[in-house]
Amino acid sequence: MVVKDFFPHEEFREQQEYVLDKIQEGLDRGKINFIIQAPTGSGKTALSIAIARYFKSAYICTNQKSLQKQYIEDYPQYANEVTGRGNWTCKALQEMGEKKEDGSGYPCSEGLCKLSVDEEEDEESENKKHKMIEKFEVIPECDRKPVKCDLGYEEQGKDNQSSHFAGFSSSRGSLCWKTKGHEKCEYYVQKMKGLNSPITIFNYNYFLIESNYVGDFGEREVLIADEGHNIEFQIANFIKFTFSNRNLNFLPGSNFPDLGDIELTMKEKLEVYAFWLENIKKTIPEEIAKEVINLEKLNYPEKELHRIVKIIRNKVDSRIEDLIDVLKERIKEKRSNEDNISSLVARSQKDRSEKPKYEARLRVERLNKLVNLHGKIARFLLEYWKNPSKWIMEIKEKGKEKDKEIESVNFKPIFINEYAESKFFRFGKIRVILSATILDCSYFAGNMGLNPEDTVFIPIPPTFPPENHGVYHLSIGKLNFENLVLNNDRILWGNLVVAVDVILSMFPKYKGIIHTSNSDISKYLKSYCKEGHSRLLTHNQQNRLEVLNHHLESPEPTVLCTPSMTEGVDLADDSSRFQILIKVPFPDISDLYISTRKDKDKFFYKYKTAISVCQSIGRSIRSEEDWAYTFTLDSRFPKYISDHRSLINESVSFYEKRILDFPSEKSIQKLKKEIFRNLPF
Ligand code: SF4
Repeated sequence: MVVKDFFPHEEFREQQEYVLDKIQEGLDRGKINFIIQAPTGSGKTALSIAIARYFKSAYICTNQKSLQKQYIEDYPQYANEVTGRGNWTCKALQEMGEKKEDGSGYPCSEGLCKLSVDEEEDEESENKKHKMIEKFEVIPECDRKPVKCDLGYEEQGKDNQSSHFAGFSSSRGSLCWKTKGHEKCEYYVQKMKGLNSPITIFNYNYFLIESNYVGDFGEREVLIADEGHNIEFQIANFIKFTFSNRNLNFLPGSNFPDLGDIELTMKEKLEVYAFWLENIKKTIPEEIAKEVINLEKLNYPEKELHRIVKIIRNKVDSRIEDLIDVLKERIKEKRSNEDNISSLVARSQKDRSEKPKYEARLRVERLNKLVNLHGKIARFLLEYWKNPSKWIMEIKEKGKEKDKEIESVNFKPIFINEYAESKFFRFGKIRVILSATILDCSYFAGNMGLNPEDTVFIPIPPTFPPENHGVYHLSIGKLNFENLVLNNDRILWGNLVVAVDVILSMFPKYKGIIHTSNSDISKYLKSYCKEGHSRLLTHNQQNRLEVLNHHLESPEPTVLCTPSMTEGVDLADDSSRFQILIKVPFPDISDLYISTRKDKDKFFYKYKTAISVCQSIGRSIRSEEDWAYTFTLDSRFPKYISDHRSLINESVSFYEKRILDFPSEKSIQKLKKEIFRNLPF
């Protein structure tokens, strides 16, 4: 049997058969990485399913919920998806009658089994957890979740109940249900299904956390990365480390290094902070030992204390018991072990009998934070020392002038090529990456750390007719930061409104999208365009999805006016017949990562911009029959396009006799004439 025998439909599109043949050829030659440049409409989902079925044990990662859904809706017989805890309601808390302020149930990410406060927590969720912890005398164990099981695969498979074993990918022993019949945790039910499914669908973020930290999902035969141009961003985000003042201040002497006005290079600054973290890491075992001694004094249950010490021995320091003995001697001599927690307990309003329990809870919480912080520092230092010159750090401050203090420090790798294998690709023996915007294969493979010798690049030529996607340019001026923000050029802002008004007036009955690049432009257009309030839909981070759904469902000719829908939004057919790209979407060089990367890798900036252009203009043309008009307004567009034409989608017809001066009356009339002639009203 060959890969194409597993295609999930009776017939192939021509390009699909071509791709599957190329993959087969590559496999026969011992290749392990396949990069498929698959334009919109090339049937990527069916290709992924064919490859996954051939290998019988596969992960498929996407970065969009809609794409995840598409896999499950189109191929429910082959694949199961697994989603993070935030998508499920905690049944244990629900049964206890615990509800959020708005009346909804708590998600599993804030479930009973997640009540211990960890060092990563933000202040708001830490406070929420504190309130919840206060309610319980002892936090009850939840029996709705499965437990790690020592039985081997075959042993567990004997009773033929597939939900009892994780047959396809368990790296740390299997999970099995402790109790039958009792209502099971929905989060774990779907996770168990995912473990037992030969094809499991994830989003990147959750997959990276689950596979690297939780460890229930181990290596499979194939790892398929859909929308693969996002892998770099996802891995960089996963590897970044943030240490905040609030997370550290429970540790004595952990203040951020005060560099005053000393001018240091990035490399020097990083070194200072790395040594500072090394020192903090060294102090943590002693703090942990102190808390264990405190818990002993509070008569904390012996069995539980043993369990905690065992975890510390494995995770922090194998000599923790010796350290505890040494400290006990030292404390005897000093005869005092007062700290913040004891004074907090002394000041609390609780009556005498409750105070020891309250103190024990606070101390267990602190232990948790110490263990997590130790692990996080160790992980960061391990990655950092491998290649110190390839990291950047950003310091976030709060307060004004004299009262300024460091709020947090953020460490991020500039390149992920050295991490991609260990954090992501190792979960598939064969790796298949699909995307419409892998615009330069060897550049992409280099960024991913993929060996060219092991890699096959399979480009699929675009099939959409260029005449369905014409791009017009209305040059209204250079729409850069300097002109729009620093000089606040009123004429330019005025021209922008006139241009958008003209385009809106050409499509009175059609929906469309305006890619604004930033929310200030969105707000300005909403306020000053003639149809701003009646047709333009703006949004914020919270209501983005709601506004998008309103646009898709409304019978009115609404127009999305947005800086953040350049990707992952499907505006097929009548949901968008025209689109406006206001600015050339150059990445923001005020971002330290972007500017450092640009300095070290000249091609990066051009490449990133080209991806944004391709993604933006691809929102409104989703099939061979689909059509839409695109307008660009920034005077830098024509040069950018002609300089980078080789990177940008061939099925888009750019500026053929369509570069117009603006806003002269003559040019507006010329444009209207051409649009009206072609528009199928
Ligand atoms: S395992 Fe139990 S406590 Fe944890 S989220 Fe599920 S239902 Fe809630």
